[in-house]
Amino acid sequence: MAEGDGPVRTCIGCRARDARGALVRFVVAPVGDDGVCRVVRDGSTKLPGRGAWLHDSEQCRDKAIRRRAFRRTLRIAGDVELHLPELGDAAGTDGDGHVTKPV
Ligand SMILES: [Zn+2]
Repeated sequence: MAEGDGPVRTCIGCRARDARGALVRFVVAPVGDDGVCRVVRDGSTKLPGRGAWLHDSEQCRDKAIRRRAFRRTLRIAGDVELHLPELGDAAGTDGDGHVTKPV
């Protein structure tokens, strides 16, 4: 029974398991009057609520967006507009999961 080097989380992008410290935690901020749902980086990993863990890489972020992993993992219901934090910033989605970004 080895392999116990501390807590492990699953990346919602590539689905690989990795040490907590290698992943970034994201949580949902309360929906404001504009009805926009914002996902924020939880750098301290101490914010309350459901968290989604993701490698700090564009590939994993794109994968997570394509398979709508943020919505599923964070249980974001309905048609709310989803805003993700920077991390490869310029990327924008058109709602169909098409990621448009400069190469
Ligand atoms: Zn990943």
